[in-house]
Amino acid sequence: MHSVSLPTCSIDDADSDLYRQRIIAAKKQLGDKVMILGHHYQRDSIIEHADETGDSFLLARKAADSSAESIVFCGVHFMAESADILTSDKQSVVMPNIRAGCSMADMADLPDVEACWNELLNECQLNDPATRENPDSPALKGEAYLVPVTYMNSSADLKAFVGYHGGVVCTSSNAAGVLEWALERAGENGKVLFFPDQHLGRNTALAMGYQDDDIAVWNPMLKPDWNDLNSSKFVLWHGYCSVHQRFTVEQIDDLRKENPGALVIAHPECDRAVVDAADASGSTEMIRRYVADAPSGAVIGVGTEIHLVKRLNAQYLDKTVVCLDPGLCPCSTMYMIHPAFLADVLESLVAGEITNQIVVPKQIAEDAILALNRMLAITA
Ligand code: SF4
Repeated sequence: MHSVSLPTCSIDDADSDLYRQRIIAAKKQLGDKVMILGHHYQRDSIIEHADETGDSFLLARKAADSSAESIVFCGVHFMAESADILTSDKQSVVMPNIRAGCSMADMADLPDVEACWNELLNECQLNDPATRENPDSPALKGEAYLVPVTYMNSSADLKAFVGYHGGVVCTSSNAAGVLEWALERAGENGKVLFFPDQHLGRNTALAMGYQDDDIAVWNPMLKPDWNDLNSSKFVLWHGYCSVHQRFTVEQIDDLRKENPGALVIAHPECDRAVVDAADASGSTEMIRRYVADAPSGAVIGVGTEIHLVKRLNAQYLDKTVVCLDPGLCPCSTMYMIHPAFLADVLESLVAGEITNQIVVPKQIAEDAILALNRMLAITA
């Protein structure tokens, strides 16, 4: 089909054949000793070698279930940390390029979150679930707690903070179920502190039926508005994704003007106005299902990273799948995973050397796994 003009994109690898051959040869030698995980936002020349592809939630599950000696994580740093936490001490998790981070995850660090936590406990007169004898028992009736929830897109020490304080991790696939759990645990007069992505927090809370008045934003650079914070159910960290904030309502309007009847789906990391204007919103896995289920001939505008959008467009030849942003819209940190780096780490493994290993310190891993396991139990 592909009748509308697709955004031009020059992000394919021109010289990938050499790397491809090196990767295939090393992978063959390693056999089932290695598993390669590829996030949906990775370039095609990485995805073609992945044993499993998915969003951060699905890949965390795949890592947890794997018995491979080494897991090569083609994604960003926080994802590899989660894989290390969820795998055994005998397994190693490596990244092709350890400099591939996430700008959103970097917007919340432990000292700032701890300062926010302490101020909220004091000013809003809430209890800390960590003071409870058994942090896994249900919320006590009549008491108000502050329950921390962190998006998967956060560092391991923040996941550990959340685990220690009786909270939970969420992904864009399961945020509503996790927030329901957290609210129940917080009690009628309690609150949820959600970080680092304000948009996922806001879009999920609104979709659950909460109102603007129920939501306050915490920005460590600004003086807190205690009227707002005191009356809220959700305190959202001020973070955002630099890729998903590029999508606008004007882009949706333009697409619909040029293609009457076009369908639009936006990732919940997009601004609320974009999510409201779209026909649907959901995680990368949901976006994939939405495109698969759309009728033949449909034009579908997608508000998420370009590599996934291009792959969907190539996969469904009877539909036209376009990125809402007409310019180039890759995640620059995901793009730091180049096939040359993948070939290097695999060849090191063949030589018996583990390079670029991601190791989360034991105490941090022990607390973080509490928060990850709560998520897996809620969404089982
Ligand atoms: S797309 Fe956004 S949230 Fe995802 S890794 Fe890139 S910067 Fe982080």
